[in-house]
Amino acid sequence: MKFGWLYRSMFVMRRQFVRLLRLRNLLTITFLVILLYIVKTFNNISKTNIGTIDYFVPKSLKKIDWHNYTQIEYERKRQGIGEQGLPARLPKSLAFLEEQLYSVNGFNGALSDKIALNRSLPDIRHPGCKVRKYIESLPTVSVVVPFHNEHWSTLLRTAYSVLIRSPEFLIKEVFLVDDASTKDFLKQKLEDYLSKHLPKVKVVRLAQRSGLIAARLAGAARASADVLLFLDSHTEATVNWLPPLLEPIALSYRTVVCPYIDVIAYDTFEYRAQDEGARGAFDWELFYKRLPVLPRDQDNMPEPFQSPVMAGGLFAMSRKFFWELGGYDPGLDIWGGEQYELSFKIWQCGGRMVDAPCSRVGHIYRKFAPFPNPGHGDFVGRNYRRVAEVWMDEYAQYLYKRRPHYLHIDTGDISHQKKLREKLQCKSFRWFMTQIAFDLTAKYPPVEPEPFAEGRIRAGADGQLCCDLRRGEQGAALALAVCERSAAAEQHFLLSWHKDIRSKDRNMCWDVPDSRPEQPIILYSCHLGGGNQLWRYHPATKQLKHGGNENCLEWEASGRKVFINRCSGARAQQWDIDTVNQHAMARWDKTSLTVTGPFEDY
Ligand code: UDP
Ligand code: MN
Repeated sequence: MKFGWLYRSMFVMRRQFVRLLRLRNLLTITFLVILLYIVKTFNNISKTNIGTIDYFVPKSLKKIDWHNYTQIEYERKRQGIGEQGLPARLPKSLAFLEEQLYSVNGFNGALSDKIALNRSLPDIRHPGCKVRKYIESLPTVSVVVPFHNEHWSTLLRTAYSVLIRSPEFLIKEVFLVDDASTKDFLKQKLEDYLSKHLPKVKVVRLAQRSGLIAARLAGAARASADVLLFLDSHTEATVNWLPPLLEPIALSYRTVVCPYIDVIAYDTFEYRAQDEGARGAFDWELFYKRLPVLPRDQDNMPEPFQSPVMAGGLFAMSRKFFWELGGYDPGLDIWGGEQYELSFKIWQCGGRMVDAPCSRVGHIYRKFAPFPNPGHGDFVGRNYRRVAEVWMDEYAQYLYKRRPHYLHIDTGDISHQKKLREKLQCKSFRWFMTQIAFDLTAKYPPVEPEPFAEGRIRAGADGQLCCDLRRGEQGAALALAVCERSAAAEQHFLLSWHKDIRSKDRNMCWDVPDSRPEQPIILYSCHLGGGNQLWRYHPATKQLKHGGNENCLEWEASGRKVFINRCSGARAQQWDIDTVNQHAMARWDKTSLTVTGPFEDY
């Protein structure tokens, strides 16, 4: 009894304590909600404020020699399998492993594993590159490498080649962005290896397979250096590759720079040139194509030259300009079309793009694509349509004319992209086509001119016999066969406005690699440039003349062979083509394949 007050007051205290606890919970929850809200807003702000990134201003324009001669000397002495970029082969005993790793990669992964991660490469640059200097003040770089189930040694060789061939202080970070790979070694093992051997290289993981566009965006969003440098996950950077990519950006932050992309052979890992440069372009089905370097740029080698479209995977761009352009359209799914989207955007919205001949990076062109595409339907068609709708204006119709079903694909919401185009006051696609890709339409005309002649090509002396390709492979010889329309036969040809003779159904042309008399005509992919594939029909004499060398198509009854021979007026050199387009024929000499210079000087 005596302690009743104590019990009472304890009871009251407990009640107050419980209340207090409830209040605390409430406060904590409120606090958390507010915090979440702030984080979210801040996140949004930081995303929309990306345009305020400072751009790099060089402190000195003095030019210096950036070569790392210690590294060059070290590489020169290296010997062993795959060293110096020489072709390599595995012993027969490893054939089983070789086959297995081929099928999962589309290249010789087993051989790659035997080649050093820091192997030496040859210096195949234009001789002028060896003495070329670059400004001493260059921007820093974040390298972004998306990967999906990449092979171990090719992925790591990509990272090594970047790190060993770049000035250390210019590479701020390397992000390997894992597009939901399923190979076990790409998980913890990769991270352990990197933190031990290559601490600058970080792995970023995507929660689900999202494609290379989303992967590049995720890497770019984390990047903090001045310049974003994108690479494929099976590439090798070569001697002094970085300064030529960075200098044009340092001098003007809206310049985007692509390296020359060399070939790492998928079978032997030999390092070799693809060619000595070309300008990126496309046809009206949006297949990537290349146009010749302009004469004025050829004279200026190895200086960077303007290119209308990037190949896609390998380029350097200031982080500021990338985000000013909104990065990639995040509505582009998996892969495909993103190189057009970014290229059109760069040019139309106030930037420019150049290829740097002194920067060379090797890329493994796979023998075949080993990964299944995720079941997202026709994502390439959808991507193309988004790009066409937002950027290509009236030229989009030429794509739709060839791919009418695109018109039925839902693009999804493109209002943000259209708003961006308006906000940045981007130029028209016509401007791009006439000022930047001005020679594209000569080679890839939006509306194909009619062919000069079309149909079956019959022997004049025997109307039962037709030229036939029998659906042969590249390299197969043209022969004569009884005229027919069966599926096995291939007798329908076009004497196209390119002045080649091509199969009606596939992009294969009559080609004469050896112009001596009695040489066969073989099947070769059409190169649209005359030369070995140049033909002319003369309705009056019924002759089919090859090239400028006065050879005529001739046939021989025994063995039904066809070949070229000195034009003689013989009956065996007469041919009838089903339909000859007189109107087009009359314009033969006016139909030219060569174009010079832009319409206005840019
Ligand atoms: N990639 C990716 N997700 C995909 C497809 C590709 O991250 O769904 C990566 C791939 O690992 C490579 C780059 O994107 O680094 C380009 O793909 P790939 O090399 O297969 O294309 P290719 O060079 O053969 O055109
Ligand atoms: Mn690739």
